Amino acid sequence: MLNKVGVIGWPIEHSLSPAMHNAAFKALGMDDWFYDRMAIPPDIVKLSLRELRDHNFIGVNVTIPHKEAVMPFIKPDELARAVGAANTIDFRTNVGTNTDVVGFLRDLDTYEIPTSGHVVVLGAGGAARAVIYGLARRGAEISLVNRTPERAEALVKHMSTFNVSVTPRTFADVATGTIDLIVNTTPLGMQPNIEQNPWTEDVPFPEGITVYDTIYRPRDTRLMQLVRQRGGRAYNGMGMLVKQGAAAFKLWTGQDAPEDVMTQALETALNERP
Ligand code: NAP
Repeated sequence: MLNKVGVIGWPIEHSLSPAMHNAAFKALGMDDWFYDRMAIPPDIVKLSLRELRDHNFIGVNVTIPHKEAVMPFIKPDELARAVGAANTIDFRTNVGTNTDVVGFLRDLDTYEIPTSGHVVVLGAGGAARAVIYGLARRGAEISLVNRTPERAEALVKHMSTFNVSVTPRTFADVATGTIDLIVNTTPLGMQPNIEQNPWTEDVPFPEGITVYDTIYRPRDTRLMQLVRQRGGRAYNGMGMLVKQGAAAFKLWTGQDAPEDVMTQALETALNERP
């Protein structure tokens, strides 16, 4: 019998996960595994989870806009509850988790980016929560800069229930102090708006800073270019994408994911559709 997994989202045609996972199955000779792509409109999310379970799917990844919507229909683990969203479900247990946290932390480790010290997170959405929760577990002091102050306050309040301390600040505030790392979790600079940059024009970008941009399309964002011009180091979110996928792969199959194969599949897909 075919072992089925996949991704649900709306729209879903641009997802790179099928290319990554199916390349991994092929490389490991797992011919009885298949990763599908399923376009699920928001009004049938609950029904779709039941249908997929009934049709013997082992699990699914969940992407925009369903990551929060699936929460009432699964058993979220601590990571999913802290982030407020699940991106991976195992139908055998109905447990949902959020592999963005481990994907992010493991990618920082790959680049030997220190996770203690003062970290400034740009944005206050789902990706920001995953990043903040992960950094807090590593002992970082975290500042949050977000366009909408109310959303930043809501994030601070939510995180405090998980014993995570975050301080909302302005660009001007953070630029005057010491910064060890900046993490962009806004979509500013993402395809097709590659001219955009999440740092404000009103405050000069600090010199010599390390920046992790969670965007991977394009691979070199305007922010990353700016960082290098100012003598800093910049990394994109491709490794985070691969590593969050690898964590889901391990959960479903029990096998270590071939991350080099997944990275190569991602590179190929991005070259075909930048
Ligand atoms: P989200 O929940 O919609 O949050 C987006 C955040 O960006 C919000 O805080 C929003 O600010 C801010 N923002 C959006 N447009 C803005 C603008 N024009 N000016 C200033 N701020 C703006 O999205 P998400 O799920 O967190 O995802 C965000 C990004 O993370 C995605 O674009 C994706 O590239 C990246 N991501 C990468 C990975 C990976 O594996 N590499 C995984 C997950 C996400 P307001 O609160 O003011 O609206």
